[in-house]
Amino acid sequence: MDANLMRTALTQLDQALTNHEEWSEEIVRALICHVPLDSRDTDPEAHMHCRFGQWYYGDGARVLHEHPGFTEIAVEHQQVHELAAALLQTSAHSGPPSPDEFERFATVLKRMRLEVLTMKRELEDALSNLDPLTGAENRTSMLPHLREQLRLVRCDIHACAIGMLDIDNFKSVNDEHGHCAGDKVLKAFARLAAANILPQERFFRFGGEEFLLCMPGADITKGTAILEKIRTEFAAATFQCEDHAPFHVTVSAGLTMLAPDVSVETSIDRADKALYAAKAAGRNRTQVWTPVMA
Ligand code: GH3
Ligand code: MG
Ligand code: MG
Repeated sequence: MDANLMRTALTQLDQALTNHEEWSEEIVRALICHVPLDSRDTDPEAHMHCRFGQWYYGDGARVLHEHPGFTEIAVEHQQVHELAAALLQTSAHSGPPSPDEFERFATVLKRMRLEVLTMKRELEDALSNLDPLTGAENRTSMLPHLREQLRLVRCDIHACAIGMLDIDNFKSVNDEHGHCAGDKVLKAFARLAAANILPQERFFRFGGEEFLLCMPGADITKGTAILEKIRTEFAAATFQCEDHAPFHVTVSAGLTMLAPDVSVETSIDRADKALYAAKAAGRNRTQVWTPVMA
C-alpha cells in the first residue's frame, strides 16, 4: 500500500462524502419545495456524474479498488440515485411520493454512508500500521499476525516460511551518499519487495534497515525462491543521488519455517541467525536456518 496515495485518497473520500450529503439535502429540498426537475438528477447515469461519482469513478479512488467494501458502495450509490430520480419524477408528475417510497431512499442513503465510513475507518486503521518512510507494515501488527500464522501451522492448515532481510553495509550508503540517499534506498527496497509478494504475504519493517517477510503456504524451496528474487532484483538496481556516481546496494536474507514446537520469537531468532550466517558468508545471499546455527 502506498501510504501517501492512500492519505490523499482518504482526504478526497471525505470531500466526496460531504458533497454527496449536500446533494441529498438538495434532493429533499427539491421534494419539499417543488423545485422544477433538474435533468441531471433524473438522468440514468446521474450516479456517474454527481460529484461523488466523479471521485468514485475517477483516478483518485483507484488506490481503493482492492478494498472489499469499494464495489459494494457503487451498488448502493447507484441505487440512491435511481430512488432519488423516481421520487423526483413522482413528485413532478403525480403529486407527493408515498412515505414508503421516501423511506426506501432514506434507508439506502444511510446504508451507503455507513459503508463509506466503515471503509474509511478500516483504511485509516491499516494506514496507522504502516511505517511512514517505507510503506511496509510496522511492528505493531507483526507479532499478532505471526502468532495467528503459528496457530494455523499448529492446526496443520498450512506451512509458513519467514524471511529476515537486512540491507548490506547500509551504514556506508549513508556515510558515502548521505542519509537522504539512504532513505531513498530503503523506500526503493520496500517497493521492490512489495511488488514481488502475493496478497497473503506480509512485509514488515522490523527496524532500521531490517525487514521481515511472512510467507504463508510457502515451504523452504518456495521461500528461498521468493527471497532470491527480491535479492537479485535489488542487487541489479542502480541508485544515483544528485551528482554522485551511480551505486549498487545488496541485501542478505535468513530463512526458516515457523516451527510448530517453538514460539514465534524463537522462529524469528532462527531467521536472524540464518541472516547472520549469510552476512558472515560474504553478504548478498540467502541462507536457510539449520540446527547447527542453534
Ligand atoms: P551489515 O551489512 O552488517 O548489515 O552492515 P550495516 O552497515 O547495514 O549495519 P549497521 O547495523 O552497522 O548499520 C545500519 C545503518 O542503518 C545504521 C543506521 O544509521 C542506518 N539506518 C537505520 N534506519 C535508517 C533510516 O530510516 N534511514 C537511513 N537513511 N538510515 C537508517
Ligand atoms: Mg545492514
Ligand atoms: Mg541491521
